[in-house]
Amino acid sequence: MPSKKILCLFDVDGTLTKPRNKIEPHFEEFIYKKIKPCCLIGIVGGSDMKKIAEQMNGYEVIKKFDYVFAENGLVYFKNGVEVARVSIQKHMGEQKLQKFINYCLGYLAKVYLPVKRGTFIEFRNGMLNISPIGRSCSQSERDDFERYDKVNHVRKDMIEALRKEFPDIGLTYSIGGQISFDVFPDGWDKTYCLQHLEGEGFEEIHFFGDKTDIGGNDHEIFHDSRTIGHKVVDPDDTKMQLIDLLAI
Ligand SMILES: [Mg+2]
Repeated sequence: MPSKKILCLFDVDGTLTKPRNKIEPHFEEFIYKKIKPCCLIGIVGGSDMKKIAEQMNGYEVIKKFDYVFAENGLVYFKNGVEVARVSIQKHMGEQKLQKFINYCLGYLAKVYLPVKRGTFIEFRNGMLNISPIGRSCSQSERDDFERYDKVNHVRKDMIEALRKEFPDIGLTYSIGGQISFDVFPDGWDKTYCLQHLEGEGFEEIHFFGDKTDIGGNDHEIFHDSRTIGHKVVDPDDTKMQLIDLLAI
């Protein structure tokens, strides 16, 4: 068991759970029974708290983990208590935000795709999630769009158009998953949560994530000098690397 004050900080999707799945019971038990006695544990997910709770078997997760950072840390729980909450509308102001949303709606109205469904812009606390096909599509439509987008660059082209239209708006674009991309203020990636950990006295912060390559949502925090990054391929790999790291 390490004698240092260590935090193991985990991405959720693809790291603690298989993509868009719930955490498996044996892995959950491993985290709470084997890892938690060795060090402090935290989660930093890009999704909102509702989705994190779904994947982690309920809102109890905010009590079971020492730190839970939803939406990259814009929503922050410590020991089961909400500490901070920031929103994109507070940060940007309604006027600027609405100008951006209106342009997106206009752009999407002119995109022709093999199939188009609904929920094209999902407004989250700290980001907009924009999906040209619409988030209410089925799994097979989702798979088809991903293949179509690889050839036709629908998402990439839209991001280029947004950059051109709003050169100084201070927003970052990130293509993730199969059907959408995220838009959030510059710096609001997963490194955002690290400011909350600065006064907590950790000697080492180990971050585990699956999307650590350029463009992936774990890239910035994986490379941040305040963390020791661990790239994983799936929950089984996370488990193996934890056993190695903590010598358990
Ligand atoms: Mg992930």
